[in-house]
Amino acid sequence: MSTDMNTIYELARPEMRDLEAYQESSVHPSLERLHANEVPWRLPGDNSAGGLNHYPEPQPGLLCDRLADLYAVSRDRLLVTRGSDDAIDLLVRAFCKAGRDAICVSPPTFDMYAHAARVQGAGVVESPLQTDEFSLDVERLDNNCGPAVKLVFLCSPNNPTGNLFARERVLGLCEELRGRALVVVDEAYVEFAGEDASLVSEIEEHENLVVLRTLSKAFALAGARCGVLTGHPDLIRLLVRLMPPYSLPSTTVEAVMQLFDPEILKVVDQRIIELRAERERLRRELQDLAIVQRVWPSQANFLLVESREPQRMLEAGRDAGVLLRDLSARPHLRNCVRITVGNPAQNAKLQDALRGV
Ligand SMILES: *Cc1c(COP(=O)(O)O)cnc(C)c1O
Repeated sequence: MSTDMNTIYELARPEMRDLEAYQESSVHPSLERLHANEVPWRLPGDNSAGGLNHYPEPQPGLLCDRLADLYAVSRDRLLVTRGSDDAIDLLVRAFCKAGRDAICVSPPTFDMYAHAARVQGAGVVESPLQTDEFSLDVERLDNNCGPAVKLVFLCSPNNPTGNLFARERVLGLCEELRGRALVVVDEAYVEFAGEDASLVSEIEEHENLVVLRTLSKAFALAGARCGVLTGHPDLIRLLVRLMPPYSLPSTTVEAVMQLFDPEILKVVDQRIIELRAERERLRRELQDLAIVQRVWPSQANFLLVESREPQRMLEAGRDAGVLLRDLSARPHLRNCVRITVGNPAQNAKLQDALRGV
C-alpha cells in the first residue's frame, strides 16, 4: 500500500506542524551532569538505579526496545506514554482544533475519549454500536464522519460491552477514512481476547491506523502508569513534540523493566489463561442467578450483566463488601452492571451475595 507521508501532518492542527520539540538535556551516563540544574546528591533512602535527583530520559532507550519486542513493532512506530489516557489526550490535542474539529465515538464505550475532546473544546460525534450484539456499524460510522472528524476512537475489546470488533470491519473503516481521519483502536483488554487479536500487526499496511496498548490491565501495572501508542512514524514524531519533556517517571521505568524477565512474562501468560477460565466459569454461574437477565459474552476481564433489578444487585454486592460498576442509567445500557472478574475467592463472595437476592 502506498504511503502518503504528508497525510498525518495535513490532518494535524496547523499549529502542530511548526511546533518545535522542547530541547531536553541529552543524557549520557558516563558524563558529569552539570547541565540540568539537578543537585548532586540523593536523598537518604533513594535506592533507585539512576537516582531520583536526576531527570529521567524522555523516551528511555532500553524500555522502548523491550516494549517494541513485546508488541512486535519497530521502534520508530512506538511512543511510550503515561498509560493510554495520556495517549488519548495527546491525540486529541494534536488533531482537534477547539471549536472546529471533532472526534467520533461509538457508544456505549469508554468515556475518556469524549472527555478528552470536551477538555480540548472539540466536538463529539456519536455513532452508536449495533443494538443486537454491540457490533461495529461501519457504514453508519463512515456516514457520520464528516469533514470535522479527525479521530475515530474504537475500543476493542470494548469497555463496557466486552466484545472484540471484527478485524475486517476495523480495517475496512481505515480504508474508508484514509486521508480523512485516523482510526484509533484502544486495545487495553486485548490480551484477554486470545492470541492474534491485536491490530498492531496492521499498522504498516494502514497508515491511518493507531493502536493503543497499556500495561495497566493484563500486565498488572495500573499503578505504574505506562502504555504504548503505535502508528505511523510521522505520527510518533509529531506527538513527541507535544509531550511534556520528562513525562515518564524513573520509578515507572524501573518498575516496568522488571516485567521483561522471562519468568515474569511466563507468570503473566499463565495468569491470563486462568483469568479467562474464571471469566467463563463466572459467566455461566451468573447466568443461572434469578436476578440476572443476561450476561454478554466477553473477550475482556469483565462481564456486562443485564440485571432484573440492578439497584438490588449493587446493594447486595456492597453489603457483602464487593463493589460493582453501575451502568444502569447509561444510554444503550438499561439495567446493566459491569463486573470485573476477580480471583476465585472474590468471585465466590459475589456469587454468594447474589444467590440470596
Ligand atoms: C482501563 C482502560 C485503559 C487503560 O488506561 P491507562 O491509562 O493505560 O491505565 C484504556 N482504555 C480503556 C478502554 C480502559 O478500560
